[in-house]
Amino acid sequence: MSFIVAIDGPAGSGKGTITEIVSKKLGLTNIGSGAAYRSVALAAIQNNIPVTDTKGIIELLDKIKIEFRKVNDKDLIYLNGEDVTTRVREKDVATTVSTVSSIKEVRFKLNDIFRAQAKSQDVIMEGRDIGTYVFPHADVKIFLDASLEERVRRRIKQNEELGIEMSYEEIEKNMKQRDLDDKTREIGALKKAEDAIYIDSSNLGIEEVADKIIDIIKKKRA
Ligand code: C5P
Repeated sequence: MSFIVAIDGPAGSGKGTITEIVSKKLGLTNIGSGAAYRSVALAAIQNNIPVTDTKGIIELLDKIKIEFRKVNDKDLIYLNGEDVTTRVREKDVATTVSTVSSIKEVRFKLNDIFRAQAKSQDVIMEGRDIGTYVFPHADVKIFLDASLEERVRRRIKQNEELGIEMSYEEIEKNMKQRDLDDKTREIGALKKAEDAIYIDSSNLGIEEVADKIIDIIKKKRA
C-alpha cells in the first residue's frame, strides 16, 4: 500500500510551495491537482472552446494527455507532451479554471489520473478536495489556510518570479471569486476534512510550515 499525504486549502495558502519542499525532503511524488485543472482550462483556450461550452470541454477530454514529470528535481506538468508548468499560471487560465473544474466529467477524469499515480508510489498531493473526496483514506491530511491579504501578497510574489504581470486588485478579485467558486462547487468543493489538521500559515514562514508538516508525516510513517 502506498503512503498518501493530502494537502488542501484555498488559492495562495502556500500549498504548492510547501508541497514541493516536503516532497523533496521526504522523497514523495508531488502531484499538483490545481495544475492539472489549469491544464484542462489551457487545452480549452488552445482549442478555442469557450468555458461555457460544457459539451465541447467534455469532448476535449479524450484528446488530452496530462503527465506529471520530475525534470532536474523540478515538478513539471505536461499537456500533450508540452511543458505547460509556467503557462498554466497565466491570467487567461486563472480566470477560466474554476468554471472548467466545476464540470463533473473533468473532475472524474482527473481523479482517475490522480488515483492511478498513487497506486504504485508514495505521493503528496495538493488541491481542494484531496482529503475529502479524492483520497478520503489518506494517511495524513492537512488543511492549509491563510488570510486573503496574505494570500494575495504571496501570489504577487510568485507571479513576479514567473514574470507574470497582474495587479494587486486583479489578483484579489480573481482570488475572491475563486474562493467562492471553489467553496460552492457541487462536487469536489473546498472543505476541511473532519480528520484534517488545520494550519493557519498567515504568520508563519514557509520553512516553519514545511517542518511542521514533515514532523506530522514522520510520526505517522514511523
Ligand atoms: O491550486 P490552484 O490555484 O493552482 O488551483 C487552480 C484551480 O483549480 C482552483 O481554483 C480550482 O478551481 C481548481 N481545483 C479544483 N480541485 C482541486 C484543485 C484545484 O477544482 N483539487
